[in-house]
Amino acid sequence: MKRYLLRLIPEQPLRLDDATMIPAQAVRGAIADVLLAGCVPGHEHDTGPCGAECRYWSVFGEGVRLKVGPAYAGSGDDTAPTLATVRTCSRVPGFKTAGAHGVFDIAVRQWVFEQASVTPDRLLAPFSLHCPVCDAPLMPYRSVITRQGEREFAAVGDVSTSLTSTHASISRTRGQVIERHEITGVMINRGIYYTAQLTMPDHLEVSVRQALGGGLWIGGKRSQGFGAVRTELVPTVANALPLGERIARFNRAIRAEQRFYAAMDSTHQSIDEGESYFSLDLSAAALPAYAESPSIVPALTMLSSVAPVRHWIDGHVGGGWHAGAGLPRRTQIGATGVVLYRVSPDAKRTAVDEMLAFLEAEGIGTGRERGYGAVTVCDPFHLFMDPI
Ligand SMILES: [Zn+2]
Ligand SMILES: [Zn+2]
Repeated sequence: MKRYLLRLIPEQPLRLDDATMIPAQAVRGAIADVLLAGCVPGHEHDTGPCGAECRYWSVFGEGVRLKVGPAYAGSGDDTAPTLATVRTCSRVPGFKTAGAHGVFDIAVRQWVFEQASVTPDRLLAPFSLHCPVCDAPLMPYRSVITRQGEREFAAVGDVSTSLTSTHASISRTRGQVIERHEITGVMINRGIYYTAQLTMPDHLEVSVRQALGGGLWIGGKRSQGFGAVRTELVPTVANALPLGERIARFNRAIRAEQRFYAAMDSTHQSIDEGESYFSLDLSAAALPAYAESPSIVPALTMLSSVAPVRHWIDGHVGGGWHAGAGLPRRTQIGATGVVLYRVSPDAKRTAVDEMLAFLEAEGIGTGRERGYGAVTVCDPFHLFMDPI
């Protein structure tokens, strides 16, 4: 499997519910539409390929592992939605570089504080969910952000301008307008483009590049001048930091917080040096396999030494349309957010590390090929505990 970054550069206004994101299924559907154009008309691909040369089946058929994530609008390639543990001041929200009171992550601090706060009266400096600048309450910071440097991010903000075009049907015989209707879309601002993560086996690259070569149509109404998108497919790596290094840094941050509270309180129970932690960061919703677990929090039942201890989770309703089969998909409930897991001291570390590497490569839960269940382990953003 090889990872790519798919850039989608709008050349016409788009019809989208939310201009900051093109859902994974819409990107996938647009690629499918290009391939289906060369297929036997009317063939329903839920039963199999339409012929020996079926290009749709070669990319989307059974057992083919093309995975496409959602495409996010931004001003650079490194664009993603914020984690569920990211907070900002409710009075002057936003990054310091934008003149606001700052954006930071609370996962490590909130968890360690909750563990330490059995005797809060002894804590000299309790963790509080207030802005360090003006003391206003914090609020979740939900935004799509583009990374511009080591500690520098920009909120994508207004990416589009609303646009309405008027169309009319004219009676040929009478030369009169018989019906007038308006189509509303969004014009994506200059300098903004979409990026999606794409993984596929090497041998698919030629077919997929061919399908993307003529551009894609996103969001419908193409005959009225909407939806044309130019594409660029570039090889990429998943994360700048290797997994082991991310886990190590995450645990160093947790240790530092634990020592901070331990130093304040002499009666505080000693730190268990053998245990460790990791986070699963689900930005694209994970659809759990309910046969295995009744919870929307991924339980990782395959590892008995690992247990979820804290989560910041939102429900998410999945569904959509199966382009190849021409059928609606079953609606499923999934979860986005951050889950913190504790690894017990007697765990086999190599088994845990292998499992986490597997989850990052393959995702979690069902619907992975439709862009669900992509996970990051110990996203480095969790280490931004002070406002940036
Ligand atoms: Zn076909
Ligand atoms: Zn503030």
